[in-house]
Amino acid sequence: MNYTRRGIVLTPTDLNGIAVQWVDRMAEASLNVLGVHGGIDECVRFIQGDEGRACLDAATSAGIDVEYELHALGWLLPRGMFPAHPEWFRMDEHGERVADANMCASSAEGLEYVGERGVELARMLTPTTDRYYYWADDAKPWCACEACREHTASDQNLLVTNALTRALTAAHPEAKMGYLAYHNAIEPPTRVRPVDGMFLEYAPIMRNSAVPLDDPTDPKNAEHAANLRRLVETFDTFDMAEAHILEYWVDASRFSDWKRPSVLLPFDADVIEQDARFYASLGFRSATSFGVFLDADYDRMHGPPPIREYGEALTRV
Ligand SMILES: [Zn+2]
Repeated sequence: MNYTRRGIVLTPTDLNGIAVQWVDRMAEASLNVLGVHGGIDECVRFIQGDEGRACLDAATSAGIDVEYELHALGWLLPRGMFPAHPEWFRMDEHGERVADANMCASSAEGLEYVGERGVELARMLTPTTDRYYYWADDAKPWCACEACREHTASDQNLLVTNALTRALTAAHPEAKMGYLAYHNAIEPPTRVRPVDGMFLEYAPIMRNSAVPLDDPTDPKNAEHAANLRRLVETFDTFDMAEAHILEYWVDASRFSDWKRPSVLLPFDADVIEQDARFYASLGFRSATSFGVFLDADYDRMHGPPPIREYGEALTRV
């Protein structure tokens, strides 16, 4: 079995009322990593509440790790800081500083502040694995200031992730920070190099999920596969055993175009298995999938989702 870490990523809404049941379901499917995903406040509320605590206890008993996969930048740099420190925020294409998304990736003070907040967040949501996932804002533009202009979205994403990694590893030497290759930052960084303490996380949201990622006859996936090979080269100074796939194999929300009510998951174990073989051939040993919308309502509408079959597909590889 190639994958030592096999997981699912769920929101507090998905877990609501069925969190302990989810842990049982994961254990039956030989899944061993639960990723909690959502807004920071929502995740903290859930984890500190009765059901969250019961979920963590059940996960510990079942030998399941818990991690937090978060679009964290809006929390790390609160928009309310804008009047005091506009230069920490991004410049739009008209030359105006704006607090709508992300930050100025060249602001040393801004990056230092974000790093401190990252350490604070690690105290609030503490993974069982020392692995952290603090992502930029979801599919939002980056900074066009004079210093940032030369950098691609991926470079700016990496500048922020480098700052977070430095801050986290200074506070917790064993901490490892994910660099998320995703959406407008899915291309490899070109000018910025990753610092030590970082691992590659790959989330191919724009792929065609009907056929395997390495299907050469599908132009979109062929482009993804070529890009992923380049990404792996960019991060080849790191142990690929830490690198992490974040897939959409059982993501009912994506198959529903992120609109409720959820459709029935169009589950294809063969695609999952072939994808997992391709990722393993590049050195990945950690794979998870969003399972958003697989909540109590989903069970009522469609019956239990094919999580056991998903786990079995991963363990076959
Ligand atoms: Zn900038």
